[in-house]
Amino acid sequence: MASPTLTLAGGGLVGAQLAHLLARAGFDVEVFEKRLDPRRAGYEAGRSINLALAERGLHALRAGGLAEQVLARAVMMRGRMVHLGNDAPSLQRYGVDDSEVIWSVSRGALNMLTLDAAEASGVRFHFGHVIRDVDFDRQRLYLIDASGAMREHAFERLIGADGAGSAVRAAMNRRQPLGERVEALGHAYKELEIPPVEALPGVPASTHGHFALEPHALHIWPRGGHMCIALPNPEGSFTVTLFLPGVGPHPSFATLPDADSAERFFRTEFPDLLPLMPRFAQDFTAHPAPNLYTLYLDRWHLGDRAVLLGDAAHAIVPFHGQGMNCGLEDAVELAGLLASSSGDGAGVFETFQQRRKPNADAIAAMALENYIEMRDSVADPRYLAKRELGARLAEAAPEHFMARYRMVTFTRLPYAYAYERGKAQDALLDRLLAEHGSAAAVPLEEAVGQLRASLPPLPVIE
Ligand code: FAD
Repeated sequence: MASPTLTLAGGGLVGAQLAHLLARAGFDVEVFEKRLDPRRAGYEAGRSINLALAERGLHALRAGGLAEQVLARAVMMRGRMVHLGNDAPSLQRYGVDDSEVIWSVSRGALNMLTLDAAEASGVRFHFGHVIRDVDFDRQRLYLIDASGAMREHAFERLIGADGAGSAVRAAMNRRQPLGERVEALGHAYKELEIPPVEALPGVPASTHGHFALEPHALHIWPRGGHMCIALPNPEGSFTVTLFLPGVGPHPSFATLPDADSAERFFRTEFPDLLPLMPRFAQDFTAHPAPNLYTLYLDRWHLGDRAVLLGDAAHAIVPFHGQGMNCGLEDAVELAGLLASSSGDGAGVFETFQQRRKPNADAIAAMALENYIEMRDSVADPRYLAKRELGARLAEAAPEHFMARYRMVTFTRLPYAYAYERGKAQDALLDRLLAEHGSAAAVPLEEAVGQLRASLPPLPVIE
């Protein structure tokens, strides 16, 4: 039996990648995308201009034959460069060496490269088409096309990759409740920019070429209840993101109503950062401050007719740099299941949900925990002691101990496994530190003995 046409809503990071993988597997694929073709109309820098790409996302790009091209335009980030304000910034490495790094990639460049590849694989894109509603019984999409006209389009199977505000999800929810729950974080973010040094008159020449700061790091200015981060771009600039409560007592976005008040705040909180942002006032005024939230659903599909993936199914807060990585992992899983299913793909969407939802729930929880770690703990002596002891155990017993961050970022061990294993390892570190006082005082042999006695070896990592 011939496979039905697969209709995708959304040609963003996840939709374009899934379309590409499906077309390479021989499916007939069409995509309806709200935006005009970014390769012609220009890329609207959305809410985050660059993103951290890690192993799960890279694996998806390898599956589509795109990894090398993406890495050629990416900037390697070895770890967190923590700016505490008093001493020189210090690098906390993410992994053991340069084989364990993350990559700063341009959202627009990645999307456009994937659109090119998907089109070359035979995907039919319909840009400038906004999905407004779906009739799942009549199998009809209701769209507004680029000229503003209302159109109807018949579909066989529908895949919603239309992001956190998914219209497909809203239509599915109207047809049969999906158990949707949105948990606001209470914090929002604003994007700012450090230009290349050439655009920074008065700032002393940098030792980092075009970059005003060390380029091979993700910079963090942790300040307890809030923070700034900066990720490098290949041409020498950095995208800076300020994370702050949306409302409430100072400091919050509500108490920084204009660029003047924000500049005063930066002068006291981030005095080293402010001189690197000559367009601070313009950027602060022009850029929005969207709220952050986590989206949970009990169900991701309507029988065999429609399914959600990526942010449409599980939008998470960005503090583990895993939203896109998780969505790209979804795409590999769904494409694989569809490719290996019988012609009509019965049951595939349910299997997809069963496999992915526990993992999406786990990374949602870990991303929330990572906010505390980034804005607060990276400067906390207890956190640093645990990190140090964890590093000693990982070196002495690599088959038994791996920091949770490394499992999430540098392996494809299921997120749910990383979450549970991380808790067990953490409890052991707490016990050892409580008993011995400091990381250096813990006798390594005894610690390894306790580790081996209390936890099975890690799964073999491919
Ligand atoms: P989207 O990227 O939102 O794409 C959805 C697509 O659907 C868009 O092209 C949109 O135009 C289209 N669409 C929407 N509605 C319709 C409609 N009605 N009809 C037709 N088309 C429609 N993730 C990481 O892995 N690493 C990071 O470092 C990272 N940093 C982040 C920083 C911030 C501040 C934020 C907010 C997120 C970050 N993320 C990061 C998360 C990442 O941006 C998302 O997980 C990712 O973009 C999800 O991809 P998606 O394709 O599912 O959704």
